[in-house]
Amino acid sequence: MPRIYIIDVTNRDGVQTSRICLSKLEKTIINIYLNNFGVFQSEFGFPFTHHEINYLNANLELAEMKVISPMRLGGWVRAIPGDIELAFKNVPKIKYLNLSISTSAQMIKHKFQGKLAEKDVIKAMQKSVNLALQKGGRQLGVNAEDASRTDLKYLIEFALAAKEAGASRIRYCDTLGYDSPFSIYQRVTTLAEKVKIPIELHCHNDLGLAVANSLSGAKAALDAGVDAYINTCVNGVGERAGNADIVSVVLAIMYSQGIEKKYKLGEGIKLDVAWRMCKYASYALNIPIPINQPGIGANAFAHESGIHADGALKNRRNYELYDYEDLGRGEPEIIDTGRQITVGEYSGIKGFRNVYAKLAVKFRDDREAAEVLELARYANVHNQKPLVNEELRFIAKYPKIAKKIFQMSC
Ligand SMILES: [Zn+2]
Repeated sequence: MPRIYIIDVTNRDGVQTSRICLSKLEKTIINIYLNNFGVFQSEFGFPFTHHEINYLNANLELAEMKVISPMRLGGWVRAIPGDIELAFKNVPKIKYLNLSISTSAQMIKHKFQGKLAEKDVIKAMQKSVNLALQKGGRQLGVNAEDASRTDLKYLIEFALAAKEAGASRIRYCDTLGYDSPFSIYQRVTTLAEKVKIPIELHCHNDLGLAVANSLSGAKAALDAGVDAYINTCVNGVGERAGNADIVSVVLAIMYSQGIEKKYKLGEGIKLDVAWRMCKYASYALNIPIPINQPGIGANAFAHESGIHADGALKNRRNYELYDYEDLGRGEPEIIDTGRQITVGEYSGIKGFRNVYAKLAVKFRDDREAAEVLELARYANVHNQKPLVNEELRFIAKYPKIAKKIFQMSC
């Protein structure tokens, strides 16, 4: 029975978005959260971009150390040989890649402007897949950018060529958020039936349909007998109006009428990580969580009007489709209202030791404490906001990795 897996693209689509930025430390902590949430793969960055190199290599080290495991770390590249050469040169241990090229007549004509015709796009993609496999790439995904506006016959031809070259998945990109749940179901059904290859759904929210389209596309893939991989972002960030929100997608698969029980998520999803993961991402991204965000918003389990409050108190199922405990909510959050010592770029050893003692982190000796203090100081410069417990713990536990993440190599 085919299943639905999550490939999260917060650390790629999310961070390439206008006005959205994450430090390399924040991207790392998000990868750890995604791993704990049970995501199949995190698209963790751009291996051909200089400032990503140390971060990507360091995160692959964390994968080797089983800190990020079993989640896969996958890079995004254009389906051009130059990007692939650079990816394996910069990040030699990278295995998983998604190779992207535009497939719609609009983009082929108006982006490539005569440099590539439809047949050249297929050739470039096949050449890139061959090169990536030869360099050590595994389980490659091929992205059809603007798939939703691509002539379906050509899209099938493109996907068959990708499969023939050795790709393991096709990413159906609704790049402009143009599909509806009805159109994506029909198109993905035809694509999956003709090509028989697992399909990724990459849906944007320009019409407010990203989650619905992802679900409908995934249903089409499963109905046609192949696995589906939904692309998500934490808190629904992503280009323009965003990508499909990760928690909404998981909730929709688990609880929506006609999908629950019948269609299954890949094993390992731990929904109770959602609350902490989304709160951390909101802080790191500096984007507040809307009060009506599914599952996570302040109002997701709030009742005020007489009939609703009375009903919810009598039986939670009167007005709650799922339980807040399942999302990791319900624990009291303790906020210090008295004296607070924080760690920052000009902290000294006494204050630093006080903060780490509260986290129950012990150092072997003064030398180790001084080393971690230096890193914590620099982490504050790197993040440009007060460090939170997850970050402080990470720096103390993996000082060598932290040091690598903070540096850039050319
Ligand atoms: Zn996108």
